[in-house]
Amino acid sequence: MDFQSILDEINEEIRPHLGSGGKVASYIPALARVSPLQFGMALRTCDGQEAASGDSTVAFSIQSMSKVFSLTLAMQRSKGNELWERIGREPSGSPFNSLVQLESERGIPRNPFINAGAIAVADRLISQGDAKADLLVLLASLSGEAVAIDPEVAQSEADTGFRNTALANFMKGFGTLDNEVAEVVDAYFHQCAIRMNCVQVARAAGYLCRDGMHPYAGTPVITGKQARRVNALMLTCGTYDAAGEFAFGIGLPCKSGVGGGIVAVVPDTLSLCVWSPALDKTGNSHLGTRALELFVAKTGLSVF
Ligand code: GLU
Repeated sequence: MDFQSILDEINEEIRPHLGSGGKVASYIPALARVSPLQFGMALRTCDGQEAASGDSTVAFSIQSMSKVFSLTLAMQRSKGNELWERIGREPSGSPFNSLVQLESERGIPRNPFINAGAIAVADRLISQGDAKADLLVLLASLSGEAVAIDPEVAQSEADTGFRNTALANFMKGFGTLDNEVAEVVDAYFHQCAIRMNCVQVARAAGYLCRDGMHPYAGTPVITGKQARRVNALMLTCGTYDAAGEFAFGIGLPCKSGVGGGIVAVVPDTLSLCVWSPALDKTGNSHLGTRALELFVAKTGLSVF
């Protein structure tokens, strides 16, 4: 398939709509001032073919897309079922930062992609090593380039992260977290503040379309079974309260972030990333979602 022409066509179809529809995340200044007039898309196939179009090399805040990679690290290092004794695998049906569900379910987050779940994963990473540094090392190795944390975004996340700290306190109260709340949310805020571009993210997710094998090194990042589980969680829980709509309309495992990025996987075929900062009412990139719909329509790719 000529993926470069397909991405160029999608870019041409999307660009006239830039600025019409959706709103850039506004809870911190560093995200609020990002221009919504940007769109990028990149992919890498399992056999190493790359294609990219639009603003695919402009770095953006990966935000909740980081949850895929922190989960991967925790799965790599956890023995047996120990991770899943603290974190569930069901879609939440509640906002990504909801406290109510966490209270009624006695401190066990529904899944690793809502904030509470990702905070519980960050706690595991602290117990298992140096959470912040280890994630950067993994991402650099997977994308083949150094990646960095935006210190301004990390600080703003901390300054405004009252709900996340509340979630962490709740879980600490129920015994879900082993480490100090301040240290756990610090790791979480920093992972949200990592900056990458579409090309880097598409490369980094390559192990998810290769049964867990590293996209360059050819060694396992996680096992094939674990990679299938990450994809299953992305499909069912990766796009906030729109996961049903994404499965219905796009049919690929996806994980989005409030920076406007969405990473998607076509198992055994390719990994891709779209980015456009304006978000729809569900918190997913408005034009990124549209671009993924166009991509599956033009390629016929789907997990179903
Ligand atoms: N930093 C955001 C938060 O934890 C991440 C939100 C997201 O991308 O879903 O509130």
